[in-house]
Amino acid sequence: METSKDQKVAYFSMEIALESDIPTYSGGLGVLAGDTIRSAADLGVPMVAVTLTYSGGYFYQMIAPDGRQVERPLRWTFSVDFKKLDKKVKMKLQDKELFIGAWQYDVRGRSGHSIPVILLDSDIEENENEPWMQQLTGALYDASPFQRVVQEMILGVCGCRMLKELGYMPDTYHLNEGHAAFIVFELLEKLGSIDAVKKKCSFTTHTPVRAGHDKFGYDLIRDVFRDRLPDSYMDLAGKEECNMTLLALNGSRYCNGVAKKHGEISRRMFPGYEIDHITNGIHMSFWLSPYMHLLFDEDLGSAWHYNYNSLNGALNLNSNHVWRAHMKAKLDLLDYQKSHSPVLLDEKLLTIGFARRVAEYKRMLLIFSDLERLAKIAKGKVQFISAGKAHPADHQSKGMIKNIHDFSDYLWNSYRIGLCWLSNYDMDLAKLMTTGVDVWLNTPRRYREASGTSGMKAALNGVLNFSILDGWWIEGYEMDPMAGWAIGPGPDDPDAENKSDKDDAEDLYVKLEDEIVPIWRKNQTEWRERMKHAIKLISFFNTHRMVEEYAKKAYLLERQPLWNSLA
Ligand SMILES: *Cc1c(COP(=O)(O)O)cnc(C)c1O
Repeated sequence: METSKDQKVAYFSMEIALESDIPTYSGGLGVLAGDTIRSAADLGVPMVAVTLTYSGGYFYQMIAPDGRQVERPLRWTFSVDFKKLDKKVKMKLQDKELFIGAWQYDVRGRSGHSIPVILLDSDIEENENEPWMQQLTGALYDASPFQRVVQEMILGVCGCRMLKELGYMPDTYHLNEGHAAFIVFELLEKLGSIDAVKKKCSFTTHTPVRAGHDKFGYDLIRDVFRDRLPDSYMDLAGKEECNMTLLALNGSRYCNGVAKKHGEISRRMFPGYEIDHITNGIHMSFWLSPYMHLLFDEDLGSAWHYNYNSLNGALNLNSNHVWRAHMKAKLDLLDYQKSHSPVLLDEKLLTIGFARRVAEYKRMLLIFSDLERLAKIAKGKVQFISAGKAHPADHQSKGMIKNIHDFSDYLWNSYRIGLCWLSNYDMDLAKLMTTGVDVWLNTPRRYREASGTSGMKAALNGVLNFSILDGWWIEGYEMDPMAGWAIGPGPDDPDAENKSDKDDAEDLYVKLEDEIVPIWRKNQTEWRERMKHAIKLISFFNTHRMVEEYAKKAYLLERQPLWNSLA
């Protein structure tokens, strides 16, 4: 054992988006984890993070000429920024021994404080007699339940052991989503009682969709753990199957959802548990276009990086400067898209962007419900740009990507309306799109979006949101309706949950035709004013504010000296 290190918080996450050339993430959960660590580093929070290496990444997305998604494993090597650690830990898996090694990547904050991220790796010599074991940390969100349960064991069980081996003695284990819940079994064995475990753990749930909670059959669980399951496993993880969310809830002193509405939905899904909420945010300087960055530095003072309250002054920014910075970002996006798509967009047109993990509840096709009507509204005025990956095993969502390609052909051939698809949505592309479009569209099925963070990236850059009132946008739109537009009724309408796709599409078309397009074309003064309202929102929806909330409620940390110097 090395000497004790003073990181008081251990942040466990199945995916962490460190950089776009480190493909250890799939979507919003990983991006949030990355932003959390970036803010914690800026603020000097004593944290260490744990995740897996994923030598094959999530996947690289290509689109065949007929619009089908094709996946390829990513080829990447750990850069010089990855330090190979010499410690190894082991864990029993079925009746064999699995060895796990680790890499360290340091996320350095503006203050110079850095947060070590420990990446667990099964591709090591010690496992060479069992080549399948070396593959275990190869791909993120592999579809096989066996591989997934083992990856979650590696994260929870080996993660704890590796921290101990490296000399970390955290006061709080933060389980970022239920994937890390095997920490509860591991700590139970060490500490002896569930009350002692609860003193050490905090848990954040990230999905309001039942199918989104990881559950494993007990046959599988008993096969992988054998006689190493604690006696109380069914009391902790559920009678019928091993529900990772339940296990995390039962093992944690503090639990939260990631937006106000999501807290409410989570309490409804898990009655009897105290579930608070801490609304998500984004890391501001990470997601800001270089042109807005310059503008903020000049007009808000360089302290805006730390003191996000300074964005409250966004309404005083010069509207024309904001517009010019936006147009530069828009041209960057159009430059990129022209070399990656046969559809050439026009910088003068109102450009609506939508991009996300393609999943049924996100309803990527809602805007195409009535193509003739959309065409009538958009012709000569509006163009579209879209991107997103579907999980390789999700055939329905892959079909939606193909649909968008067919719509693109149809809208061009019949109406000369541009609809551009960009393949391989990743953090770089997300940044280009959320900084470069004029309007950001999000149409999830109501109350299925835990928070959503892409709309925050857009708002920060003066891009107006046009979205269903769900997740963070319920709070954002309530704070300042000038920052964008809502589709359909708000959560105070008891009928909101019953709105059909048709109702929502109708409202989308009406708002687009009667409000958004006319303001864009005839009232640029209002548009630019609204852009500043959007920016101002992010004085709340940022990870500095969020990490401070976690520090107080989930980590029970004293205020860090750095925060005081900023206050
Ligand atoms: C921000 C981001 C997301 C999250 O998007 P939402 O649809 O708002 O949840 C997903 N993927 C990437 C690559 C991102 O950068």
